[in-house]
Amino acid sequence: AKQSGRNQTHFFTAAMQEHANQRMTLEQDLRHALDREQLEVFYQPVVHGRSGRITGVEALLRWHHPERGMIPPDAFIPLAEETGLIGAIGEWVLETACAQLRHWSDKGMNLYLSVNISERQRELGLEAQVVRDILERNRINPSQLVLEITEGLLLQDSEETIGWLNGFKQVGVNLAIDDFGTGYSSLSYLRRFPVDTLKIDREFVRDLNTDRYGDSLVSAIISMAASLELRLIAEGVETEAQRSTLAQQGCQFMQGYLFSRPLPAEELSAWLESYQP
Ligand code: C2E
Ligand code: CA
Ligand code: CA
Ligand code: CA
Repeated sequence: AKQSGRNQTHFFTAAMQEHANQRMTLEQDLRHALDREQLEVFYQPVVHGRSGRITGVEALLRWHHPERGMIPPDAFIPLAEETGLIGAIGEWVLETACAQLRHWSDKGMNLYLSVNISERQRELGLEAQVVRDILERNRINPSQLVLEITEGLLLQDSEETIGWLNGFKQVGVNLAIDDFGTGYSSLSYLRRFPVDTLKIDREFVRDLNTDRYGDSLVSAIISMAASLELRLIAEGVETEAQRSTLAQQGCQFMQGYLFSRPLPAEELSAWLESYQP
């Protein structure tokens, strides 16, 4: 038993070492991802649920790794946050997506743009002035931009966070709470933050029409948003049944594979041109 115990320790150490090595390699690769032009912004449309009209797009980052292929953001954003690389990467996403929005506006498409930002970007130089400069450079009206922050950020509740967010509001940018419903924030709590939009996390949408609790959770979120006069977007809408239940319950805006997956800019352009609500 002693022997196998030791082997086990050995095994774990080796596995942990392997894990640490992989992480270090990934970190090295991520350091070069920007200048080697391996990052790309995809776009997913946001739709008015009843009419099917496209109202905006969300920018979603992708990493084309030369050996590993496409790496999804969940697999490298946390690393980018830990290493601080999210500072440069996040600004690049904002600049790239704003340039793309300019392009769509020039073609006569009236869309808003939503960009995810990490709390870490606060210490990494994402000030209101930086956002204002990017908007001006691309001739974008601030009201066309939405910055999405996760609900978790609010739970850390600090004066710094509120001040940071107020800075964006002063520029005229809109703010959305992402993954809403996963962080247990209360109604009174939400009111303290200068947000305009809630995005219902897709785990709630998934549970729609499966049991009555799923439906009542969503209707609770919808009435909460209504009482705070917040715009509401449901994420992860995959089926027609989900779409119609959400529309019936009063959720106006939706996003999900039912309408379109996130697509490269060119593909979304083609999709937008042929789209019939
Ligand atoms: P998120 O902001 O909650 O984005 C929504 C995620 O749901 C996206 O995953 C999207 O592809 C996926 N999705 C959309 N519709 C459906 C659907 O109908 N069904 C299912 N199953 N999934 C759907 P993605 O693109 O892998 O992004 C994952 C997360 O990575 C994002 O979650 C966001 O938190 C983060 N992320 C992506 N881009 C950026 C970025 O530029 N900066 C930061 N800080 N985070 C980002
Ligand atoms: Ca988001
Ligand atoms: Ca989300
Ligand atoms: Ca998410």
